[in-house]
Amino acid sequence: MSASRIQQITILGATGSIGASTLDVISRHPDRFAVFAVTAHRQTERMAEICVRHSPRYAVMVDAQAARELTLSLKRAGCKTEVLAGTTALDAVASHDDVDAVMAAIVGAAGLNPTLAAAHAGKKILLANKEALVLSGQLFMDAVAACGARLLPIDSEHNAVFQSLPPDYGRQPTACGVRRILLTASGGPFRDTPLDALESVTPEQACAHPNWVMGRKISVDSATMMNKGLEVIEAHWLFGAPASLIEVVVHPQSVIHSMVDYVDGSVVAQLGNPDMRTPIAHALAWPQRIEAGVRPLDLFEIARLTFERPDFTRFPCLALAYEALRLGGSAPAVLNAANEEAVAAFLDGVLGFRRIAEVISATMERTGQLAVDSVDAVLDADRHARRIAREEIHSRRRY
Ligand code: NAD
Ligand code: MG
Repeated sequence: MSASRIQQITILGATGSIGASTLDVISRHPDRFAVFAVTAHRQTERMAEICVRHSPRYAVMVDAQAARELTLSLKRAGCKTEVLAGTTALDAVASHDDVDAVMAAIVGAAGLNPTLAAAHAGKKILLANKEALVLSGQLFMDAVAACGARLLPIDSEHNAVFQSLPPDYGRQPTACGVRRILLTASGGPFRDTPLDALESVTPEQACAHPNWVMGRKISVDSATMMNKGLEVIEAHWLFGAPASLIEVVVHPQSVIHSMVDYVDGSVVAQLGNPDMRTPIAHALAWPQRIEAGVRPLDLFEIARLTFERPDFTRFPCLALAYEALRLGGSAPAVLNAANEEAVAAFLDGVLGFRRIAEVISATMERTGQLAVDSVDAVLDADRHARRIAREEIHSRRRY
């Protein structure tokens, strides 16, 4: 791809937090990037604003009623963007011949199929949707390798690890002298909250992250530290590292985004202000560097960086994720499905915060190993685990 040609970008999940940061970086570089397609679940108003502002060729609404509303509102605004509806349209805009890169920023398992479609079409994939990798890591990495796709991590920790690894890193840590991958974690809003008080925390408290502004699901995941657990599994697939080589380091300032510890004693880190536009700009322009609109890091203002071991008693979800990775097979998919159901129930106010880990643990125990040798089998396992998780939620439900 020549540097001078304008890159056509599809943004899956354009109305979300990562979607907004991506649109912001792209709009700073009209000479390099153009928005080819944007997708959303059902947020019509936000989507209409995006279409008027960025003039993509296509806008996909998964919800058919929302697609009809968007069509009307774009017509009124004189916007020429073509509106498509349904999940097959997601796959179509992720794999379209005219697309250079796909930002995979749908939240949850719903992002799996379009992200896989981009992999099968050999696209450059900017991967934010960690759940897709947790759900079907092997199938996904196989598709990337078989179809010549290029995977660039957007999750800030994985982007930092990517930046700290040698350019020719071939998913073989020991061959490159890597001793450990150190994933940093802020510890979320409840790092110091008394355990008893965790019983009654509200969705609003859980979503008030000390350092990052994010969507509600990942904010709850950060509060339970399941986010870090999912990231351990994500790191396993992206960097070919077993669980024993991936360590979590609690670093409340969120300035070091992650590190690689080498056998010669070097520890290479990537630092920056906590702003997702940095990894997004890095992946969009890679291997070049572009302006991202991010405030420069002022080390004198920060003054101190601190580190702690993770507390697996306070954060049982982190332990469950390590267990799922060690068990392998369908265990990560089951963990993810149960977590999505439990977090949704917590956000709906019907499940207590500390019940989230209980639901996941009970679902993993009851489900055991299921076949995950094809995408259909993975999605069956996902559906099965969700049914069991809903039963577990029901028995712990508060009214
Ligand atoms: P968000 O909730 O703000 O946005 C989610 C997007 O997905 C929206 O555009 C929504 O319309 C779309 N969506 C939701 N359900 C859908 C469905 N069933 N079908 C199709 N589209 C659907 O989420 P976010 O915070 O932007 O996170 C997106 C992904 O990026 C997640 O996987 C998250 O873990 C990951 N991520 C986010 C951050 C962050 O800072 N926000 C950081 C690292 C990784
Ligand atoms: Mg992260």
